[in-house]
Amino acid sequence: MENSTLSPVFFNDDCYPWLYETVKKEHYSKAFVIVDSNTAEYCLSIFLQQLHTDVPVEVIELEPGEEHKNIETCIQVWQTLADLGADRKSLVINLGGGVITDLGGFVASTFKRGIDFINIPTTLLAMVDASLGGKTGVDMGALKNQIGVINNPVAVLIDTIFLKTLPPEQIRSGFAEMLKHGLVYNKEYWYSVVALTNLTNDDLDIAIKQSVEIKNTVVKEDPTEKGIRKILNFGHTLGHAIESYFLENKNRNILLHGEAIAIGMILESHISMQQGLLSEEEYREIKTVLLSVFDKTLFTDKDIDAITELLIHDKKSEFGMPKFVLLTETGKAVINKTVDKVLINKAFSDYEK
Ligand code: NAD
Ligand code: ZN
Repeated sequence: MENSTLSPVFFNDDCYPWLYETVKKEHYSKAFVIVDSNTAEYCLSIFLQQLHTDVPVEVIELEPGEEHKNIETCIQVWQTLADLGADRKSLVINLGGGVITDLGGFVASTFKRGIDFINIPTTLLAMVDASLGGKTGVDMGALKNQIGVINNPVAVLIDTIFLKTLPPEQIRSGFAEMLKHGLVYNKEYWYSVVALTNLTNDDLDIAIKQSVEIKNTVVKEDPTEKGIRKILNFGHTLGHAIESYFLENKNRNILLHGEAIAIGMILESHISMQQGLLSEEEYREIKTVLLSVFDKTLFTDKDIDAITELLIHDKKSEFGMPKFVLLTETGKAVINKTVDKVLINKAFSDYEK
């Protein structure tokens, strides 16, 4: 099942000639396009107009949102695939954000012990992160990505035309992962994304390509996340716990993945500073930039206790508290750091200031 070679990534006009050559009767028996109701509305007709194929095409439409990224939805899709006559030569095409590429990738990787799939990310976050690197999976209750496999799509096709209908808060959510790529890997890239956060223009296409390059370079070195790939989890140890907590507490507004990760990056930068790894000046700059893009969220003491409790269930935790990725400077990260609970509380206090 595990496949460590990177999937090819095609951009904009290069996507459709590749699709034409690939989605043919000589290769596949049937194609199943998985969408959610939003990508059905905004992306499906654009995609189908470009898909010239002699292979029969079926569309499987799901409810949108993280709350549907679970095993129940997988069962529904496996059943639909079976009902529609999918066989081992069928192809799954995931047309959507990270929820669709994570879930559709997992469904395809497990149906009849694995059939081919293609990712066509339609959110900024999925273009620069979720559709790449082969991680697929679903949540278990409020716990994120507990069930999954690493398996690569046949290819990733990034057509930035889909960003035209994406709401601004979803664009911001994708910026969080781009900023993360800068913070853990490339200082220059961090500054170019910081400059972009105020505008949307053609520079975005270039920045997307650079983010894809950073993610793929890191993943290529360590596909199964034994070492360096862990740097991509910066902001995610606390970020995932915060995201889970908000998912679980229906009385609180839902935080988008990128919004939760942005808070996680501020907190984990503060922890980096407290451990003497990151300078105060760099921490202050990171906090200022992130708070200029993402509104501050209020946390009570009760919230903070519950979030710290959730950390123990982080899938990367081995004995109690998970190991953290911390920064030594903007553009450089270290992995496997132990963090005391007291430092987490101090990071929350500084965040609220
Ligand atoms: P999402 O898939 O929920 O998409 C966000 C919203 O935008 C949804 O309502 C969706 O219907 C809508 N949408 C999608 N494309 C649209 C378009 N072109 N126009 C208008 N609306 C559109 O969420 P996301 O932010 O793309 O992804 C978040 C998920 O990705 C999380 O589950 C996270 O765990 C996962 N993720 C996975 C990886 C990985 O390596 N596998 C990495 C990062 C994030
Ligand atoms: Zn993420």
